[in-house]
Amino acid sequence: MLRQYELVDLVKSYDPYADEDALNRAYVFAMKKHGSQLRTSGDPYYSHPIEVAGILTKYRLDCSSIIAALLHDTVEDTDTTLEEIRSLFGDQVAQLVDGLTKLAMIEQKSGSSKQAENFRKLLLAMSEDIRVLLIKLADRLHNMRTLHFCDPAKRARIARETLDIYAPLAERLGMEEVKEEMDEIAFAELYKDAHDSIVARLNFLREQGSNIIPKIISQLEKDMQDNEIKCTITGREKTPYSIWRKMQLRNASFEQLSDIMAFRICVESVADCYQALGIIHSKYHMVPRRFKDYISTPKPNGYQSLHTGVIGPLNVRIEVQIRTYEMHEVNEKGVAAHWAYKQGQKTEGKNFRWIRELLEILDQAQNPDEFLENTKLEMYNDQVFCFTPKGDLIGLPVGSTPVDFAYAIHSNVGDTCVGAKINGEIKPVRTILHNGDQVEILTSKSQHPSLEWDRFVVTGKAKAAIRRYIRTNKREQFIALGKEILEKLFKSEDQTFAEKDLLPIMPHYEAETIDDIYAKVGEGLITGWDVLRLVHPGYKQQTKLEKMVNSIKLPGFNKKKPSKDSLKIRGLIDGMAVHFAGCCHPLPGDRIVGIVTTGKGVTVHTMECPSLKNYEKEPERWLDIDWGTEAENETHVARLKLMLSNEPGALADVANIAAKSEANIMNLNITYRTLSYYEILLDVEVKNVDQLNNLVLALRASKQVSYVARATQ
Ligand code: MN
Repeated sequence: MLRQYELVDLVKSYDPYADEDALNRAYVFAMKKHGSQLRTSGDPYYSHPIEVAGILTKYRLDCSSIIAALLHDTVEDTDTTLEEIRSLFGDQVAQLVDGLTKLAMIEQKSGSSKQAENFRKLLLAMSEDIRVLLIKLADRLHNMRTLHFCDPAKRARIARETLDIYAPLAERLGMEEVKEEMDEIAFAELYKDAHDSIVARLNFLREQGSNIIPKIISQLEKDMQDNEIKCTITGREKTPYSIWRKMQLRNASFEQLSDIMAFRICVESVADCYQALGIIHSKYHMVPRRFKDYISTPKPNGYQSLHTGVIGPLNVRIEVQIRTYEMHEVNEKGVAAHWAYKQGQKTEGKNFRWIRELLEILDQAQNPDEFLENTKLEMYNDQVFCFTPKGDLIGLPVGSTPVDFAYAIHSNVGDTCVGAKINGEIKPVRTILHNGDQVEILTSKSQHPSLEWDRFVVTGKAKAAIRRYIRTNKREQFIALGKEILEKLFKSEDQTFAEKDLLPIMPHYEAETIDDIYAKVGEGLITGWDVLRLVHPGYKQQTKLEKMVNSIKLPGFNKKKPSKDSLKIRGLIDGMAVHFAGCCHPLPGDRIVGIVTTGKGVTVHTMECPSLKNYEKEPERWLDIDWGTEAENETHVARLKLMLSNEPGALADVANIAAKSEANIMNLNITYRTLSYYEILLDVEVKNVDQLNNLVLALRASKQVSYVARATQ
C-alpha cells in the first residue's frame, strides 16, 4: 500500500502546486472513515481507495481527482455525508465524489449485462465530468487486480461486467493499458482453459526460441541507426487475450498464428515514422494485407500509429508498430494524457470545454467499422436512461416525463397512467426524469390521456398517442382549448372577443356551430391568428418593437394592479390563494408543484424542494402547475447560501456583483463564522431563474466566495 508521503510525492512530481495539505487530510480522512472495515482479501478497506489514487497518479490526474479517488467510497460505505466532504475539501471534490456515489448506486440497480451497450451510454451520460469516469475505471481496475480473493460466483459476474462494460469504456477513452489489464484478468477468469493453454503454448515457444525478442530488437535498432533515425524500440509477446481474440476473429488455430510478437518503434516526428516504415518494408518481406495507416486515419478513440506485418530478423513473423513519442503517450493514456497535457495550460476550474472538444474530435474520427460504439458520444447528452422496476433500461430524450416513460413501455400503460413513483416516491406525472431514475408507473383502468399531458410530454410516441386519443374521444376538450386559445390571443392583442363575432365567419370554415370553430382551433387545424384576422379584418399585428414601446409605462401613470386573471401560474384552481414557499423560493423557470392546504390555498414549491417529502403520503394535495407567460413581469425573492472568506471587502464584493447582475439585495443573514470564513444567507430579488444563475456564476468567479448555491431550507 502506498504510504501517505509516497502518494503526496507522486502527485507533487508532476504537479508542484498540488494542495499538499488537502491530500494529507484526504488520506487520513479515508483511513479514519473506513476504520476497521476489511476487504475480502483481509486487507484493511482503506488500502483500496489509496491504491486507486495511486493508479491515477500514473495518469497525472489533477489534485482534486486524486483527493476524490481517496474519498470515493466514503459516502457510499461509511457515515460520511456529501456536505461533510464539501466543507472539508470544497465544491469540486464534492462534485466528483457525488458523481462516483451515483455511479455506484446505478451499478447496483442494473441486474443483467444484456444491456451492456445502454449501460455504457448511461455511464457516459452520467459522468458529466470525465474525471468521474477516469476515477471509476481506476476503481474497477483495482477491484480486478484483487478479484482472486472473491468467491467464484461473484468473480465471474465482475469479470463479465468488466469485459462487457468497463474495458470497452477504457478503450473508448483511449486508455489502452487499463483496457488490456482488465481484459487479461477477465479472460483468465471467464475462459480459464483457453487462457491456460495459450499461456502454456507461449511458454513452449519461448523455450524453443530461447528468448529471441532482444535479438530482434537489436537488429531493428541497427537498421534504424544505419539510416540515422533516432528511436526507441521495445518488443513483447502479445497478450493471451489478444491472441485469443485473433484466433476467434480469423477462425484460426494457435499454430496458424505465427505473429505472436509485436515490436514498437517510437521516433521523433511523423516524417520519421514513414521513413522508418520504408526501411522496414525495403529490408523485410511484407505480409500482405497487414499494413494499416492509423496516422492519416486515426482510430475513433484518437489512436495513431503505423502497423505492419513482416517476416522480420531471424526469419520470424512479427508485427511492427511505428509512432511518435507524443502519439505513444496519447495511445497509452488516452483522454488522461490530454488531461495531463492541458493541465499545464490552466484549465483547473469549472470550464471543461476542452473535454467537449476532445469528444468531438473522437467523434469525427468515427470509423464505420467500429463495432463497439456506433452512436456518437455527445449524443448521450440528449438522452436520459431510466430503469423499470425490473431493472430494464429505457432510453428517452432529455426532458422526458413519467408519461413519456409510460408510453415507451406500452401505449396501454401510457393511456391509463395516473401517477408515478420515482425512486420510490410519488411524484407528479410532469416531473422531469433524470439519468438512473427508477420509474414505476401507476395505472388505473378509468384513466384516459389528458390534454394537459400534451403540454409537457416530449416523445413523439406520447404526443401522437395523446392526440389520437383526444381526436377520437375528446371533442369537448378541443372546444375548451380552442376557446381558451382564442380568448388569450385576442386579449394579448388588445382586441375584444365576443362569441357573436364568430357567427359571420362560420361559413368560411364550413362550421355548423361556434363550437366547430373552437374545436378546429383546439385541434390545430386553424390558428388563432386566422380567426383574429377574419374577425378584425383591419387589424395589423404589432411588431415586437411596437409592443415594447406601447408597453412602456410612465411612472405614476397607468400603474395597473396585476389583475387576478393574468396568467402568472397555470393550472391553479379558481379563487385559491397562492403563496410561494419560504423553504425553496421558487422562481419563474423552475419546475414547480402546488401543495393544497384546505382553507389556506396553494403553496408553490420547486420540484426539487426537500420539504415535499412531507406530503408524499397525500398525493391528493399535489397540484400540477406551471409558470404562466406573465410570471416574469414581477420580481421574486430567491435565497442563496454563500461561504465567504473572512476578509475585509468580501461582503462589498458580493454586493457589487449583485448590483452588476441587477439583483436587488433584500436581506442578509450571517449564519456562522469561523476565523477563516463565514456563511451567509442572501435574499435577492430577481426576475427568473436565468438571472439568478447568472448571479451565481458571477459570484463563483469571485476569489472571496468559496461556495455558493441556492438555499433549500
Ligand atoms: Mn471503490
